[in-house]
Amino acid sequence: MTAPQEPSFRSSVDLMFNRAASLIDLEPGLEEKIRVCNASYTVRFGVRLRGRIHTFTGYRSVHSEHTVPAKGGIRYAMSVNQDEVEALAALMTYKCALVDAPFGGAKGGLRIDPRHWDEPEMERITRRFAFELIKRDLIHPSQNVPAPDMGTGEREMAWIADQYHRMHTTDINFRACVTGKPLNAGGIEGRTEATGRGVQYAAREFFRHPDDVAKAHLAGSLDGKRVVIQGLGNVGYHAAKFLSEEDGCIITAIIEHDGALINDKGLHVEEVRHWITSHQGVKGFPDAEYVPDGAKVLEKECDILIPAAMEAVINITNAAGINAALIIEAANGPVTAGADQILREKGCVIMPDMFANAGGVTVSYFEWVKNLGQIRFGRMGRRQEESRHQLVVDELERLSADKDLGWTLSPDFKQRYLRGAGELELVRSGLDDTMREAYQAMREIWVTREDVTDLRTAAYIVAISKVAGSYRALGL
Ligand code: NAD
Repeated sequence: MTAPQEPSFRSSVDLMFNRAASLIDLEPGLEEKIRVCNASYTVRFGVRLRGRIHTFTGYRSVHSEHTVPAKGGIRYAMSVNQDEVEALAALMTYKCALVDAPFGGAKGGLRIDPRHWDEPEMERITRRFAFELIKRDLIHPSQNVPAPDMGTGEREMAWIADQYHRMHTTDINFRACVTGKPLNAGGIEGRTEATGRGVQYAAREFFRHPDDVAKAHLAGSLDGKRVVIQGLGNVGYHAAKFLSEEDGCIITAIIEHDGALINDKGLHVEEVRHWITSHQGVKGFPDAEYVPDGAKVLEKECDILIPAAMEAVINITNAAGINAALIIEAANGPVTAGADQILREKGCVIMPDMFANAGGVTVSYFEWVKNLGQIRFGRMGRRQEESRHQLVVDELERLSADKDLGWTLSPDFKQRYLRGAGELELVRSGLDDTMREAYQAMREIWVTREDVTDLRTAAYIVAISKVAGSYRALGL
């Protein structure tokens, strides 16, 4: 996807890193130690399927172990390669540091087209890949914890957890070897929606700061903002759904692998998603203009552009044509280093990937903690919280009756106030808090330092400073 004149994905991440690192006072050599990928493992394994042996190539890279376990998703796509996996592992290091998730950075990938294989075949391939990684501790609750990414989901994570358990039958923490599992296999409420939910919380926090909104030449709230979204998969679907249903955004275009849909009055996200599931693409969807060259629609005028599909889709060949005031990088690396420079010069504000899509790893962190704690969040305190709230309601009603005040609490208030927080509420609260805190840390640098003019550089400065602090504490 990267234009021929542009550096690779990993070099692009390194260029962005270098720009920020040059603005921090780091001792000699530490900058390089943080930037380079610690280790990459390539595995080729055979699986007998459909009457012959098929050989698959997979990767697991550990970018940083300044704190362990290292954390990062596993991607299934034909385009997977070592450069891409290393770039994504590096982004995981910076992302975890930015949002204070106590992990180093890792990533994995398998070169496979998941649509080509049926479910039992996918299970055999996934278990075999997991076996190769588990036997080298590249999947392990205290050393290396994968999660879903493009082309994988909770189904694959459940197979991986089970495979680990078969190979470590006495490890009581086996569920914590991977996150993004289904609920009945040790998952956590709200993990599937987490990355899209985090995009929503990131956007909300940005719009709480009128000065920041003005920097993007926008005004007001999220309500009525025109949004173009690329990729209606896990991340894009949830982000588009929440922004349109809960914040009043108008989804004017959805770009998918087979083309784009445009409707300036707003697309119904749920209906488009349903159409994609039953037709394997957006083509033919009623109530919208269909554009076969989907990538061209990235240049459609809008307030917010959310690339949520894959890397390098905005590069030096199309950056000048981008017509968005704010870009929220829901995907990893959707804007190349070259495009980033062009867009900054145009005055476009970019909310960087390491922040915008950090919701996934944040809730993965909560899931990992839940697995190690062996208890669902809210189980101990929920009913106690409810009974204390009931005390307040009873007392207010008693006072009103005794003093003949004629107060009545509205049924809606009572219902909402009396309800104790369950796991989903706690996860959303923790995610919201994380996104707000991380935004404020970035913003502090963005608005106070004259030599920092964009959020990405600010995010890198926060992340690199934290990783450097860990290395110093380790005595390196
Ligand atoms: P997914 O496989 O669920 O969805 C990707 C979507 O993009 C699919 O609908 C696919 O059809 C579409 N797509 C593929 N190529 C396209 C193209 N050329 N043009 C337009 N659409 C295209 O993947 P996902 O989990 O939603 O991940 C998307 C991005 O978000 C990736 O960059 C991933 O690394 C990043 N991300 C995912 C998570 C997560 O929790 N899943 C967390 C952080 C970051």
